[in-house]
Amino acid sequence: MSNLTIDSDRLWSSLMETARFGGTPDGGIRRLTLTAEDRQVRDWLRAECEALGCTVAIDALGNMFATRPGTDPDALPIAMGSHLDTQPTGGKFDGVLGVLAGLEVLRALDAAGYVTRRPLMLVNWTNEEGSRFSPAMISSGAYAGVFTVDDVLARTDAQGVTFGDALEGIGYAGEAPVGSVAFGEMFELHIEQGPVLEHEGKTIGIVTGVQGIRWYDLTVEGCAAHAGTTPMPLRRDALVGAAEIVLIVHRIALEHDGVATIGEIGVVNASRNVVPGEVRLTLDLRHPETAALEAMEKAVEAALAGPAFAKTPARLVRMWDSPPVAFDANCIAAVREGAAAAGYPAREIVSGAGHDSVYTARVVPTSMIFVPCKDGLSHNPAESATQADCAAGAQTLLNAMLARADGTN
Ligand SMILES: [Zn+2]
Repeated sequence: MSNLTIDSDRLWSSLMETARFGGTPDGGIRRLTLTAEDRQVRDWLRAECEALGCTVAIDALGNMFATRPGTDPDALPIAMGSHLDTQPTGGKFDGVLGVLAGLEVLRALDAAGYVTRRPLMLVNWTNEEGSRFSPAMISSGAYAGVFTVDDVLARTDAQGVTFGDALEGIGYAGEAPVGSVAFGEMFELHIEQGPVLEHEGKTIGIVTGVQGIRWYDLTVEGCAAHAGTTPMPLRRDALVGAAEIVLIVHRIALEHDGVATIGEIGVVNASRNVVPGEVRLTLDLRHPETAALEAMEKAVEAALAGPAFAKTPARLVRMWDSPPVAFDANCIAAVREGAAAAGYPAREIVSGAGHDSVYTARVVPTSMIFVPCKDGLSHNPAESATQADCAAGAQTLLNAMLARADGTN
């Protein structure tokens, strides 16, 4: 491995400079996809990449691909990147760090006059956040063939504007067919968006995969009745059943080393003097392994069939199933060795959140690098990562890119 190093100050000043595009007074960024602010940051990125001698291709969904040539013209590029769009209450690092660290890798190589064997590519995916156009990660999904281009272009935002019109509006409806800009491997640096690395004092998360997610709707059926005249033993209180469910899924998640969240709960036709007749809940189950997710689902079903629900039957309906993603062993090894070479404390970690890498992993070997963020906070203007941690992530990215771009396998 070479001793090329990234420039921490240059990376940090680019993070702060681009944070002005959509910057909010509380220190966050509101840069919804395909808006004027998104165009500003895209124009900035394109100009910076072109100044480094890169060729920038844009596909029909506005995904941007900047290629830095290598010495082997037949080799597929090794890609890196993330997204520049943010949530309405976004911070300065979610997605942005992965793109600007990639730019810093290109700048560091340019400054050193170093040319890799395989070409390098920097990618900015459109609409990762999914807050303007649903669902999230839609353009990397289309790249991987999960969504059709026509389907994506026809999606509308809350104002009824289509993705296609918004894309035309900012001048980023590119010529390249979606999926046609090929690369051989993908690396994505991202803030963890969780508290594990910070809690354990680790600088680098070697991301081995993304956990599977299953979403369910739950309904508990009781009998609406008068709150004053219905004696307790004769009640069929649906909220009591729902309360059981809250505790049951909490226990099941602990037992299976997974996570379970009931994020929404509502009494149908709620009234302060009526015994709840029906309660609806949502359930979000996550685990890195399909077998464990399956076991968690079975355990919930078994509990719902038990005596606690004799008077208030509960129904579980699965709404969505996103299987676990295992990242590529060679890419994971490149991240591990890249962190070790720079001497950063690191640990393996499974991503709890979805990322564009979930989709690229379907078509090319992929892995991710995590760095800590303060209190695990994200999708919030107070989202914060230190300059040193951002630089460590970028250095690990550079090391991994060099290992894969100059390596022989
Ligand atoms: Zn992100």
